[in-house]
Amino acid sequence: MNFSTYPFTVTDRFVRYAKIDTQSNPNSPTCPSTEKQKDLSRLLVEELKAMGITDAELDTHGYVYATIPANTSKQVPVICFCSHVDTSPDCSGTNVKPIIHQSYNGKDIILPNDTTQIIHFDEHPALAAQIGNDIVTADGTTLLGADNKAGVAEIMDAANYLMTHPEIKHGAIRILFTPDEEIGRGTDKVDVKKLGAQLAYTMDGETLGHIENETFSADGVSITIQGFPTHPGFAKNKMQHAIKVASEIINGLPKDKTPETTENKQPFIHPTSIQGGLEQVELKFIIRAFDTPTLLALEEELRQICIAVLTPYDKCTYTFKITEQYRNMREVLDTSRT
Ligand SMILES: [Zn+2]
Repeated sequence: MNFSTYPFTVTDRFVRYAKIDTQSNPNSPTCPSTEKQKDLSRLLVEELKAMGITDAELDTHGYVYATIPANTSKQVPVICFCSHVDTSPDCSGTNVKPIIHQSYNGKDIILPNDTTQIIHFDEHPALAAQIGNDIVTADGTTLLGADNKAGVAEIMDAANYLMTHPEIKHGAIRILFTPDEEIGRGTDKVDVKKLGAQLAYTMDGETLGHIENETFSADGVSITIQGFPTHPGFAKNKMQHAIKVASEIINGLPKDKTPETTENKQPFIHPTSIQGGLEQVELKFIIRAFDTPTLLALEEELRQICIAVLTPYDKCTYTFKITEQYRNMREVLDTSRT
């Protein structure tokens, strides 16, 4: 492949996509969780059509499907390139102002609109390999959303390249852009049959050349504690306080199975939100483990913590709800290897 004369569109695309607010919302029951994710998805369909990809479409759930048609008669599997349009609910995605730092010089990067936000060279070992390259950051007031608009822009530029370079022979390549990956629902409404790909590659990685063939298996757990409220003036030996019960559960979490104390393939239980008051508290967790038996064991461990904490509180009740999120793809890859 000769890229020397190809005017790469990936940076322009990335900046254009990053400015569109596509934050997902874990508390919304709809799919997509936020309508605004479709603002980007609609643009992607338009741009794909402009490349000559005539079947590009956005479905009602906010998924974009498109095909780079095969240009070889050789029998090859249909592959898919996939990425997600949403950005994390943890940090604002409104009014994103991407800044291109040309020919990075190896110094700390101070983000201009909040100068307390500094990307320190010595805290980010990956920066050393980027000296001389252009780096894109946010302005310090929002998320940039490179996760996963970098992946979206890469796939779009690859599609543009392949559509304008018919001398590169390939089979049919399906493109899939999903909503709601950040809230664990990215694959909920994928129509696998319609997608029709034997293999898929998610462009959502770390550094150049990095390939992952497995992930955590993931579940969500929601625990709702129903307390026994009374007037504080008449509370003695009566009141059973949902906030205090919840805090005992959090306190009872195993200290060696949290994101702060684990790395690589070590599993963890991670509280993500706490909401409520004296009468009722809802705790939300994500559970992550590389294999499903360990995942289920962690959920059982959390359930046992709940039971132990709740036992002395005879007037409190609780519910414990597990929501399956996704499974380590290796469990499937290992069985489908030919
Ligand atoms: Zn991502």
